[in-house]
Amino acid sequence: MPELPDVTIYVERLRALTVGRPLEAIRIASPFVLRTVSPSPGELCGATVASVERLGKRIIVGVEGDRYIVIHLMIAGRLRWKPRGERLPAKVGLAAFDFPGGTLVFTEASPKKRASIHLVAGRAGLAEFDRGGLDVLAATTAAFAERLRSERHTVKRALTDPTLFDGIGNAYSDEILHAARLSPFRMTSSISDAEVAALHAACIATLDRWTQLFRDEVGDGFPDKVTAFRPEMAVHGKYGEPCPVCGTKVQRIVYADNEANYCPTCQTEGRLLADRSLSRLLKEDWPRSLEELEERKAQRVAPAAAAPQAAAPTSPSPRNTGRRGKLGNKSRPS
Ligand SMILES: [Zn+2]
Repeated sequence: MPELPDVTIYVERLRALTVGRPLEAIRIASPFVLRTVSPSPGELCGATVASVERLGKRIIVGVEGDRYIVIHLMIAGRLRWKPRGERLPAKVGLAAFDFPGGTLVFTEASPKKRASIHLVAGRAGLAEFDRGGLDVLAATTAAFAERLRSERHTVKRALTDPTLFDGIGNAYSDEILHAARLSPFRMTSSISDAEVAALHAACIATLDRWTQLFRDEVGDGFPDKVTAFRPEMAVHGKYGEPCPVCGTKVQRIVYADNEANYCPTCQTEGRLLADRSLSRLLKEDWPRSLEELEERKAQRVAPAAAAPQAAAPTSPSPRNTGRRGKLGNKSRPS
């Protein structure tokens, strides 16, 4: 799911390309994407764009007459800037917004069709899209600490809860926790003041760094490579690869629809965290340390080589098993 750095760059580029210009036409290709009936798309056509802003992970395009287009990309939604009048791609095309200088194409590469557009009359109507998450970039460390400790959660879950914090999802929470050297499964109730301050600083440094990286990459173009998996990331999507800080292999825990990636040496004092898929393979007896895991792997490989019918699994944590975990699953749009 596009997170704060991605959404910020979408907003900056849309602002530069559309503010002060008329929205000539809205073309809706998928009947599911438009979730409101009034105002109609036709009523907004011809209106000049007044503002583009971010509300959590949503993009809000304001047009004259105090009306707003609320775009939620969800997981697979993407925006592209194309030559004016560009045809919508088959299957993935949701909607197109035509401007004098180009066309904003909204796509979703998923059969689930969860991305959405709401058309809203009056700024007060935007309140229902505000999940109330704290903007970590603007917040004081005291406000950040109060919000973090307001509910008892794992820190991974707290950071990605859109009602607690704004714009942070699975990818950047992994990167932030690695930068803060904190275990994703530490409970927010047990985190010291110094750790909270380090976590807040890591939020700001990580989000600012990535936003600037994307800003430099996109320049005066438009972001067309928005992905949660970037080669420059430290741990997110890096299962089995060396941690860039210490070289330890990055580990993961798969839960619900998500996974947490972490470096055991940097974040969990060398301990491996309990993972059901891992534990099932290890017959409910998961290793407590990296050394133990290596020993077990060596033990598993040796008899399997001697007796192939043992069919030892080669991966300790396949993605498609043990999908339920202790974090629970958030099915509400964030
Ligand atoms: Zn490390």
